[in-house]
Amino acid sequence: AKAAGRNTYCFFSPEMDAQAHERLRLENDLRRAIERGELRVHYQPQFAADGRLEGAEALLRWQHPQRGLIGPGEFIPLAEETGLIHVIGDWVLDEACHQARQWHLLGHAGVRVAVNLSVRQLQRHGLDRTVRSALRRSGLAAAQLELEITESSMMDDPEGTLSLLHTLRGIGVQLSVDDFGTGYSSLAYLKRLPLQRLKIDRSFVDGIPDDGDDIAIVEAIVALARKMNLRIVAEGVETGAQRDLLTRLGCDEMQGYLLGRPMAAAEMQALLARCRAG
Ligand code: C2E
Ligand code: CA
Ligand code: CA
Ligand code: CA
Repeated sequence: AKAAGRNTYCFFSPEMDAQAHERLRLENDLRRAIERGELRVHYQPQFAADGRLEGAEALLRWQHPQRGLIGPGEFIPLAEETGLIHVIGDWVLDEACHQARQWHLLGHAGVRVAVNLSVRQLQRHGLDRTVRSALRRSGLAAAQLELEITESSMMDDPEGTLSLLHTLRGIGVQLSVDDFGTGYSSLAYLKRLPLQRLKIDRSFVDGIPDDGDDIAIVEAIVALARKMNLRIVAEGVETGAQRDLLTRLGCDEMQGYLLGRPMAAAEMQALLARCRAG
């Protein structure tokens, strides 16, 4: 009884209390971050194998007044738990569509913007309406918007995802599978999805060019994508050796620190201007 009492007491230990406090503070901060305009969208360029700038992935950041720039890994899980992901996700979608529309107005026609969707956004009824209104408000053509969905969040509700993706594709947006190779979706399932792109997970790119297993995996994914008429994007490309081999293996597009880090919208605009001039 004494031991159990100690365990119970342990639950209210000062450390736990401090942790719960910290979490609550972060949650309150996050609630206010949107109203205060502390969230930012950064953009990471995506290049075709021939070097052309084809698009950019929108990546969320939080410019915290005390803590500085915080990456999504540190607050998206909390946003998903609390449901804040919905208002945040809607905001990212609006912001990215407006930004891409600006690029087009500046003469960079055809540059795509890719937005990440969380599993919670897929589960909520009305995502298609949210996407339609973001397009309408920004004036962006549907074909210039790409939605990235991770393999694992698709598998949460395969049939529901299937029907949602068909609805979204009906709007005209492009659809890609993010972190491909890390989930367990079957080929039979993938074949039914109206996809345009597979993004090879960074964990496989990491082992290129030395790891024979990773080379074999990339080769298999490329062969599969060819058969299914999908474009292949390699993400997390950090070295010239990776880029060269991935190009030889047949990857269509590259994204990674070697080619460009995620950057503020103004820097992305400057990069677009240089690419066009050069
Ligand atoms: P992700 O969608 O797989 O995004 C790629 C991540 O890899 C980004 O991290 C990017 O900065 C990083 N990265 C890009 N190139 C390289 C490279 O060459 N080497 C290495 N080591 N890393 C590279 P980031 O920006 O911290 O985002 C982490 C994750 O947070 C994203 O993974 C995505 O799942 C999620 N995320 C980001 N923005 C959003 C958003 O607006 N909504 C939702 N739901 N999730 C988001
Ligand atoms: Ca992504
Ligand atoms: Ca990814
Ligand atoms: Ca390996």
